[in-house]
Amino acid sequence: MKQYFQEEHFMLQEMVRDFATNEVAPIAEAMDREERFPVELIPQLAELGLLGIPFPEAYGGAAMDTMAYTLVIEELARVDASVAITVAAHISLGTSPIFLFGTDAQKDQHLSNLISGKYLACFGLTEPEAGSHASGTQTTAVRDGDEWVINGAKNFITNAGYSGVCNLTAVTDPDAKRPGGISVFMVNPKTPGFIISPPEKKMGWRGSDTRALTFENMRVPADTLLGELDVGFKQMMTALIGGRISVAAMSLGVADGALSAALKYSNEREAFGKKIHRFQGIGMKLAEIATEIEAARHLVYHASYVKDNGGDVVNAAAMAKLKASEVAVRATDFAVQAHGGYGYIKEFPVERYFRDAKALTIGEGTSEVQKLVILKRLMKGL
Ligand SMILES: Cc1cc2nc3c(=O)[nH]c(=O)nc-3n(C[C@H](O)[C@H](O)[C@H](O)COP(=O)(O)OP(=O)(O)OC[C@H]3O[C@@H](n4cnc5c(N)ncnc54)[C@H](O)[C@@H]3O)c2cc1C
Repeated sequence: MKQYFQEEHFMLQEMVRDFATNEVAPIAEAMDREERFPVELIPQLAELGLLGIPFPEAYGGAAMDTMAYTLVIEELARVDASVAITVAAHISLGTSPIFLFGTDAQKDQHLSNLISGKYLACFGLTEPEAGSHASGTQTTAVRDGDEWVINGAKNFITNAGYSGVCNLTAVTDPDAKRPGGISVFMVNPKTPGFIISPPEKKMGWRGSDTRALTFENMRVPADTLLGELDVGFKQMMTALIGGRISVAAMSLGVADGALSAALKYSNEREAFGKKIHRFQGIGMKLAEIATEIEAARHLVYHASYVKDNGGDVVNAAAMAKLKASEVAVRATDFAVQAHGGYGYIKEFPVERYFRDAKALTIGEGTSEVQKLVILKRLMKGL
């Protein structure tokens, strides 16, 4: 895969790998067991520049490309998916919309703070009755003088308990044909009427923060409208392209982490007097999984390249996310199987990888939704 990299990518990869090994790996099992958000890692991530990889230096960012960002997320996920999704949601979903669509004043207000880790950002798109059908938003924003009054609810919002700004969608023109008539507001969670539920109890990503939000007659100033009125759905879908590439990158990390564990174990464990990788059922499968991960990696790195250099990035991101997340589920399933009974015991990390992998096929558009995106393009080509 070296053809995708320049010197700066190798240096970044090594730096993040060291950080993940030395700072994240020692606490990964406890974060999962205790369902604890690793708040102490945020200043360290900021210090290393990992909260601002794709953003301009003027705001404190590293001004690096999508390939660099992809590598960061992959390396973090190789050790811990919770830390990876915390960073990915902060960058792709929380900070990018402000960078891409915010006015200069809005960027000045938030970007430096987000990149320096003063606060995190979150992305409120999913609602109790609008998940895959995200344009079915029921949250409303009604203009009242210099303010908007927002009522509604959001579900499963990553980083919601640790954010200083939440980008949320609301219907601003109920008569418009959807997905028009939806706008994004950048809301301070301390605003009266912004109600944050306790963290969800999850199967995986247990060190990440996921919460439901409710808005009750929440009054926000007019200048919290992100960019232009009534184009919020388009803005969020643009942010989701980056988000899907980052979930695809996470998938590579999780899959690779599981494969490494399976390789190591199968070279240590013996049965019937042989190392278990010598049995075809294990050895051939290890080779198959490694090949699947490599195929997925090409799609993910290609999508990263297309995002920066032009091409059909919507399709490339959908294919990368679909393939990589499904490979992560298969790779982690096999890693548990290769560990036999020990794979089912928490002392070994593969059961955590297995649980973490499943969310990858759901968050930021399910596998079925990625297939709909891909199919739409196939039908257009007829
Ligand atoms: C841990 C976690 C973190 C998340 N973080 C965020 C976040 O930060 N911000 C945010 O806004 N959202 C977030 N989400 C929400 C996530 O994006 C949604 O859960 C996802 O988009 C699916 O929506 P849903 O849960 O309503 O499922 P539904 O839309 O109800 O789907 C249920 C099932 O039906 C299938 N389905 C639905 N429509 C179709 C169709 N047309 N064709 C075929 N199959 C279909 C789906 O694929 C799925 O299998 C998070 C979710 C999780 C689990």
